[in-house]
Amino acid sequence: MQADSYRHRGLRRALVEELRRKGIRDERVLLALATVPRHLFFEPAFQEHAYQDKAFPIGEGQTISQPYTVAYQTALLNPRPQDRVLEIGTGSGYQCAVLLQLTPHIFSIEFNPVLFERTRRRLAGLHQAAHLFCGDGSVGLPPHAPFDRILVTAGSPTIPRVLLQQLRIGGSLVIPVGNEHTQRMMRVTRESEAEFVREEFEDFRFVPLLGQAGWPKL
Ligand code: SAM
Repeated sequence: MQADSYRHRGLRRALVEELRRKGIRDERVLLALATVPRHLFFEPAFQEHAYQDKAFPIGEGQTISQPYTVAYQTALLNPRPQDRVLEIGTGSGYQCAVLLQLTPHIFSIEFNPVLFERTRRRLAGLHQAAHLFCGDGSVGLPPHAPFDRILVTAGSPTIPRVLLQQLRIGGSLVIPVGNEHTQRMMRVTRESEAEFVREEFEDFRFVPLLGQAGWPKL
């Protein structure tokens, strides 16, 4: 990737050590976060904030997720190199670039057309070859289903059944579910055509998943 520097690599190593201390143990995920230059997903004026473990505004009322959250969700998702992964909520494209370190088969959908276009150009400029779509990802991406992994990076009121139906058997959905203040991280694994196993993890706070299977637009 372009425009990286010795100083930025050092800041990333320190961030990764911080994530390790906070409990992230998956070495593949830590390596991915050590590799992707998060500052290139910020506007130039704000790049100095990129290596703090914090979410940050990216415009349009949206945020780039906190590195801890990105690492946590990626570790739960556990994508293997052959997996087809759908990310719902492309946002800045940072999580998408992290996923691309783990498998080349990334599909990512963003609802907001301004963010979609900005991020499409950014990822192309960084030679990050994901399949990008603009639209309501709360209903998944039926023409490209099934997926081995689905990751939702916005807070959902429920676990949309339509997303479970787009999982391959053995595949899993990672999604934060709750109200507008707090959401519980959930992982749902499709054991067979009709059987799903649900696990619950930590609480987080995300911007809302909008759309047909999410929250209505205010
Ligand atoms: N993954 C992003 C990143 O790495 O920067 C962070 C995503 S931000 C926390 C959540 C994103 O989900 C926002 O960009 C928002 O516009 C998008 N979003 C909300 N509802 C959506 C929907 N129904 N379909 C697709 N994207 C949606």
